[in-house]
Amino acid sequence: MLHNSGHSTAKPNTLHDVIVVGSGPAGVHAAYPLVEAGLRVAIIDGGLDSKKQDNQPINKKLHNKSNPYDLLIKSGYVFTKTYQLLKVQSNIEIIQSLAKGGLSEIWHGICDYFTDSELAETGLPALEIQKEYKEIAKRINLKTKPQLDLHGQLILKKAKNQVYRLPIAYPYRTKSVIEDLKKYKNFTYIPKQLVLKVKDKNKHVEIESISIESQEKSYIKSRYLILAAGAINTTRILLQSFRLYNYQVPFLTKGHTMLVCLHPQTLLKRRQNNIASLGQVSLTCNDLDQDLNSFFVQFYRCNPLAQDLALQYIPLPKPLASLFFSIIAPYLVIVDVRFPTFKSNKSFCRLKKEKCDIGVLEVSSHTTDREIKKHKEELKKIYRKIQSFGLLPMKTITSNVTSHYAGGVSFQSKQGKLSTDSKGRLHQAKRIYIADSSTWKVLPAKPPTLTIMANAARVGKNVLKKFQP
Ligand SMILES: Cc1cc2nc3c(=O)[nH]c(=O)nc-3n(C[C@H](O)[C@H](O)[C@H](O)COP(=O)(O)OP(=O)(O)OC[C@H]3O[C@@H](n4cnc5c(N)ncnc54)[C@H](O)[C@@H]3O)c2cc1C
Repeated sequence: MLHNSGHSTAKPNTLHDVIVVGSGPAGVHAAYPLVEAGLRVAIIDGGLDSKKQDNQPINKKLHNKSNPYDLLIKSGYVFTKTYQLLKVQSNIEIIQSLAKGGLSEIWHGICDYFTDSELAETGLPALEIQKEYKEIAKRINLKTKPQLDLHGQLILKKAKNQVYRLPIAYPYRTKSVIEDLKKYKNFTYIPKQLVLKVKDKNKHVEIESISIESQEKSYIKSRYLILAAGAINTTRILLQSFRLYNYQVPFLTKGHTMLVCLHPQTLLKRRQNNIASLGQVSLTCNDLDQDLNSFFVQFYRCNPLAQDLALQYIPLPKPLASLFFSIIAPYLVIVDVRFPTFKSNKSFCRLKKEKCDIGVLEVSSHTTDREIKKHKEELKKIYRKIQSFGLLPMKTITSNVTSHYAGGVSFQSKQGKLSTDSKGRLHQAKRIYIADSSTWKVLPAKPPTLTIMANAARVGKNVLKKFQP
């Protein structure tokens, strides 16, 4: 028997109309139109409620460097079993989630709409996505005029009449949508079940999962299946289901370049700690000759939780460095620069077969020489721009930690070994659809989640059409 945390229980023999794997932004927004239409829908998720920490000490051997994870653990969002259950070997640090609400439980809520050409490059139909953007913005009550802190206000004042964009900063949490869905009798939430494999059996789909507590296996059935476990885990489930071991699929990840800047204008001015979002103002390149914006910049206040991370860059003994950090932190702005990512032979993922049920996903991420050259040119422009906003860059840090990723099962007009059609349906299966960014052909510089939600709602509606006469 599979249990859920709400009022209903899913019996193994129940045939659901649609099962959605994953309860992050993609999963809940794919489920929403189906639940509203009255179909029997279940969301199955491998995680716990992120606020209910499992209190296990994190096993540092499971990931290369501890700092980024320590920061997330301190924030109380990442459940430590994640890295035992979703094994990854990579030259970069990939932040994954195994939690109710997915990674949206940590995001800073900076979003932006992709332009039509960005959508086209990504492989998404611009007209349909623009329509979904409007519905999603209404559903999540997206606020486009957030309250700015002193840094945000001053930067924006200086940036007037220049290439800047008003931020859309919104502390949105997917978990609240799950609570909304639970009010419907035709909806079931199944937590703590890690999906291993899926099989299209012609008249229905069979989903094989394992309890993260008892390790017991279960099988459930649905007429249609939507995979929304985040690009990395949807790809893992499909490679495992089709037994495509050591088969390389293109994978896109986006690193960060962080410019630590002093903001002299704020020195000795009153601090405002009561503003909800750390990330406030954003800047994009509005060069209309380019298909993709060549960079996206987010300006953050310095997060006090980042102290441990920061100390390694301050050449003082630890107690003095801590004191120095606590004095200077309120006057710092972190300028987080991201560039778009394109397919390349050196950036891929593949599944290694293991004796146990869960294989190890190898993820390789490399920036080509051409991209490195282009990034350097763009960084020079960004330096000049941020100096004109009154910021003094003090240190540039290139970070290999990523939470923005895409690819694995990309859109293709013709059937590839693992690919989807324009509606999000897996070419290899009649009843399996993909709602997260694993279908994307490029990863634009902008934050992806608003578009992930819009596309997921579109895919959910495509599945709904299958039930309509
Ligand atoms: C610190 C941080 C800040 C961020 N800030 C921003 C931002 O400002 N703006 C922005 O746009 N984006 C931001 N992001 C990225 C954003 O969180 C992701 O783009 C988004 O959450 C992806 O949504 P998703 O539904 O595709 O995947 P996820 O959020 O990863 O959700 C996947 C879900 O699937 C479940 N799952 C995984 N594997 C399995 C399995 N095998 N079986 C069952 N369930 C499974 C997980 O438990 C989870 O619920 C940030 C991320 C981080 C970490």
